Amino acid sequence: MAGISSKAAGELENHKKFVEQELDEDIGVNLYQFKWRNLDPQIGRFIQSDPLSESYVYNSNYAYAENRVINGIDLEGLEFYQTTNIQPDGAKSIDINIKVKVVNNTAKMTKGQIKNRMEQAKVSTNETLSGVNAEGVSVNTTLDYKLVKKVDPKKDFYVSFVDETEAGTELGYTKGDIGNTSINGFEILSDQAAGIFFDSKGLDEEISNAITHEFGHGGGLYHKDSEKNPQEIKESMTPLNFMDKKAVGKPVATPQQLSQIIKSIPESRKKVVYQK
Ligand SMILES: [Zn+2]
Repeated sequence: MAGISSKAAGELENHKKFVEQELDEDIGVNLYQFKWRNLDPQIGRFIQSDPLSESYVYNSNYAYAENRVINGIDLEGLEFYQTTNIQPDGAKSIDINIKVKVVNNTAKMTKGQIKNRMEQAKVSTNETLSGVNAEGVSVNTTLDYKLVKKVDPKKDFYVSFVDETEAGTELGYTKGDIGNTSINGFEILSDQAAGIFFDSKGLDEEISNAITHEFGHGGGLYHKDSEKNPQEIKESMTPLNFMDKKAVGKPVATPQQLSQIIKSIPESRKKVVYQK
């Protein structure tokens, strides 16, 4: 129906269609290009086998979203991602705003470089720490930062850029308690120091992701193999997760991790919207 369709004259066609994936119509292939493989919309199946199929033997190698399309979508052609659920407590959404002070404890980074890094961290924090939690409640996390000259480690929630973290050459280090969302410090390696210790490929993004990773610790999350990591969270962290050291792709927080973060934050600091 030309004129009222997305192909109407004078309109630019949006190539991102089904679940925000790009439809490739070149040479008549008509496949949705997910990050990891291509989906044929005519049969509702991927045409390549699941790169993770060895870890999920119960699942068909070509199924979309494990065939569980009632309550989820396929994330990048790699795994099922739950998008809806029952909401037992009546909450519809929860907004979390992380407010952090930022201090430059390295002589090597300019104010502009630090701002740039924090702007990237804003994006990665919003993308990584937002989603639907295990109770089916939408969580939206935003980050606000303020550059300051000095912080008080006994009072502040802060990011400190350093040339060496207390953990040595790690990109980031959480100084305070895991799950302390009020008073905590997160050391982040300066660009220059990181450039000495690590392969520079993708490092820019890795440092920003390291900030989000440390906020994850602040929100009560552990590394996958930590003894303190609760079993249900550990199981949810397969295969890609931002709390893993060797995370690849776009490893967002799992519903179980989002629930843990919400538990860590005092009620007064969350904006909860309830269903009418
Ligand atoms: Zn860590």
